[in-house]
Amino acid sequence: MEIDHLDGINQADMSNVANIDVTIANNAIELLNNDGEGGNFGKKRKGVQKRSKVWLHFIAFDDPVTSQQKARCNYCGKVLCAEPRRNGTSTMNGHIECCLKNPSNLKNNTLLKYVSKIDGSKTVIDLGTWKFDEGAVKRALAEMLIIDEDSFSLVEKLGFKRFCEVALPPTFKIPSRRTITRQYYDIYVEHRIALKNYFKESNLRVSLTNDTWTSLQRITYMSLTAHFIDAKWKLHKKILCFCPVDSHKGDELGDLLVRCLKDWGLKKIYALTADNASANDGLVRVLKDAVNK
Ligand SMILES: [Zn+2]
Repeated sequence: MEIDHLDGINQADMSNVANIDVTIANNAIELLNNDGEGGNFGKKRKGVQKRSKVWLHFIAFDDPVTSQQKARCNYCGKVLCAEPRRNGTSTMNGHIECCLKNPSNLKNNTLLKYVSKIDGSKTVIDLGTWKFDEGAVKRALAEMLIIDEDSFSLVEKLGFKRFCEVALPPTFKIPSRRTITRQYYDIYVEHRIALKNYFKESNLRVSLTNDTWTSLQRITYMSLTAHFIDAKWKLHKKILCFCPVDSHKGDELGDLLVRCLKDWGLKKIYALTADNASANDGLVRVLKDAVNK
């Protein structure tokens, strides 16, 4: 009540004002206890309080024809019988779980779709299911950058962000460049473990290709690639090592190569291809000694 209205009111009037305030407060509590169904001030509340959480998704109303209580879905507007003495809440609960317009169901919707699977050298189209999975989207994003050899910064570019806003739900948080970098490394470790296990189980023979060169920044790098044929006669090429080295000396390069093969658990070498740098004579000698031990 505003102060202006209290001008000229005596003590007795003030106590009446206080009583009116208490009555309004009591009525407000009554209104709240009526579960948002309305109710008149000063009257006793009718019926039983709605305790089921399902009423967060429905609004109750009386059917004007049958005078029975019904419930209308807040999302799709579907009307269900909700007469307290005749209908339980299980139908309403069932509807909320599968209501296509319920926002919490959107992420769980499963759709049929055509999926492409790589079978050997062929891509096979098959019928599969699809549902939104934030983790799978982030993983596919990191894999996309690897396959297309894009830079990490793609995820921070305006066009990509705009595309995500249109294509993905607003709850999807685009990973930062740092997050993508971490995911790259996780994928690398995962593939490395799988390849190591494959080498161990198959005990196959590999051919190696090796090269060493110096970058513009005067850093020397060595790369080691393995070629092998799997049980289905498919040729594979895998980079086993790509690392900076301290020198071009044959013995040191040979030691590094042998350590690398040990790390991968590779013992059976079919051939080594290298360029005609004189340091490679030393490298081959060290490799021969290690293999023939
Ligand atoms: Zn609905």
